Amino acid sequence: MLAWSQSLRMKIGTLAILFAGCALAQSTRVDWEKQRPEVLEHFRDLIRIDTSSPPGNETKAVDYLRKTLEDNGIGTQTFALNPNRANLVARLKGNGSKRPLLILAHTDVVPVQREKWPLDPFGAILKDGYVWGRGSTDDKPILTALLMTMLELKRTGAALDRDVIFLAESGEEADPTGVGINFMVAQHFKEIEAEFAVTEGGGAVIENGRVVAVNIGTAEKLPARVRLVVNGTSGHGSVPKEDNALIHLGGAVEKVGTWRTPMRLSDTTRTYFEKLAQMSPPEKAARYNALLNPATAEEAQNYLAKNDPRRYSMLRTSVVPTMLKAGVGPNVIPSQAEATLDIRALPDENIPAFYEQMKRVIGDPAVKIEPIPMTRPPSPASRLDTEMYKTLERVAKEMYPGTTVLPTMSTGASDMAQLRAKGIPSYGIGPAATENDSTNFGAHSDVERLPESSLYPLVEYAWRTVSEVAVRR
Ligand SMILES: [Zn+2]
Repeated sequence: MLAWSQSLRMKIGTLAILFAGCALAQSTRVDWEKQRPEVLEHFRDLIRIDTSSPPGNETKAVDYLRKTLEDNGIGTQTFALNPNRANLVARLKGNGSKRPLLILAHTDVVPVQREKWPLDPFGAILKDGYVWGRGSTDDKPILTALLMTMLELKRTGAALDRDVIFLAESGEEADPTGVGINFMVAQHFKEIEAEFAVTEGGGAVIENGRVVAVNIGTAEKLPARVRLVVNGTSGHGSVPKEDNALIHLGGAVEKVGTWRTPMRLSDTTRTYFEKLAQMSPPEKAARYNALLNPATAEEAQNYLAKNDPRRYSMLRTSVVPTMLKAGVGPNVIPSQAEATLDIRALPDENIPAFYEQMKRVIGDPAVKIEPIPMTRPPSPASRLDTEMYKTLERVAKEMYPGTTVLPTMSTGASDMAQLRAKGIPSYGIGPAATENDSTNFGAHSDVERLPESSLYPLVEYAWRTVSEVAVRR
């Protein structure tokens, strides 16, 4: 008996050394096939908790997460500016030889119009191989993946070189009162301070049943909206006036709306288009390569402007008129007219200089540019040569041989902005979907759904990447 147990101990010891010496082998310590029911259960449970904002009620999701974590021996803390909209932090301690890693997901979802939904938006119904429901793509897959990562790190008893901090944050989708990331960064930054962060903001592309590309979010544009305001003299609609505010505003909106702002590539977008060209069929590849050459970029931009506006937006600070306000009656010349421009700036844009440039494009002193207070800070792109990025890239290639890994700049905004602005390089990951699913059944839609088969690889990807940067080798 003794000999047997000794030899078993030796075998375990040898195995441990083998595992320690081979990062990839870490993943074999979790039988993901076996974890599937638990993964699916957490995912569906979290969708069933209605955290649509407003009002959010994210504390209900926090209660669920706290119980799950604490049942598994992981201590938690909650931080709430508003008791109904709490944030939860859980920390697995490392030996401190490396700085912490922050993994975070938001618990809130956007509201639903129930009558537009084909299925109960909070039913987490499994149908045709999909899990349907609000939050099934944004952001409960990531929340589930990071929760499972914590649970498995704890269960495997992995020795950590760094703390792994889990943050379930409220108010990402709409946060006029700053209950989520703004509150955590402003009041409890030491609880989440880390060398790197991983959260939503990436994804993967399925073509013909295969993952052909993995997007890792490394940068995002900055909303830098303005109002164009024109004041003129009011009067009777039967008497034309040259200072009519509507005429001046109309001219300005047309000029800025059709203005081709300067194209500028960054490390992220240059790499993105280079790699996209490498994986694309010849005609598309030629177009992406043309963007990289100033002599041919113009024509390629024309094509994208017409046919691929999202990628066109990745090339530049974009200016999009979104609202008009003027007039009280058909026979009254209004004394004021205004337009809202949704400007999305490249991460390194000099905003005041950009507004000056826009003023010259408008070329009409009657039109005043009034910046709208920003809701997020300017944030630098996260580097592509960090341990975290390289690990996200390597594990993606291991899990999906032959796939292309694309660093991606989001044209939208996320809570990574606040973290990057505080000096934490932050990276976005996400589940795999076909073009059809991400375009027609994606985030914020009335038919939001996730292929069940995309959930499990996301969980494994999160666990493996976190393990490789945090578990002691
Ligand atoms: Zn989201």
